[in-house]
Amino acid sequence: MDVLWAPWRMAYIGAPKEERGCIFCAASEGDRRERLLLGTTAHSLVMLNRYPYQNGHLMVAPRRHTSDLPALPAPEHADLAETLRRALATLGEVLHPEGVNLGMNLGAPAGAGMRDHLHWHIVPRWVGDTNFMPVVGDVRVMPEHLLATYDRLTPAFAWLA
Ligand SMILES: [Zn+2]
Repeated sequence: MDVLWAPWRMAYIGAPKEERGCIFCAASEGDRRERLLLGTTAHSLVMLNRYPYQNGHLMVAPRRHTSDLPALPAPEHADLAETLRRALATLGEVLHPEGVNLGMNLGAPAGAGMRDHLHWHIVPRWVGDTNFMPVVGDVRVMPEHLLATYDRLTPAFAWLA
């Protein structure tokens, strides 16, 4: 199994829980760019992961605050699935990944960091990316990378509200 080395994730892992809140529910409040929100649909939202495993790591979540995927009303799940499909296509058009890890972690034992609000992860991958991942020891460097990625993706995600 490949392990992506993402040292900036320590800032997330080390953050006190109460400071985290629900990033998905907070995404629509305040400055979109600051929140890394690429946009919303009727029932879903697309945002960049602030603690990415890879450049362009997106998250697609329902707007409803829930951790219960089977209980998600059918129209909301249909919207989520379609948003996931389109986000995957858009990411492909902009970043041209050679592969993608697509997944959802449900519950703490499964590794869900934000376990109260379900979300899909879209992690673009390139051959050899585990080898040439930039060595970023200083977490303060990451926001610039994130905002550059955000600005690069935003025009392509114009289909979102
Ligand atoms: Zn939430």
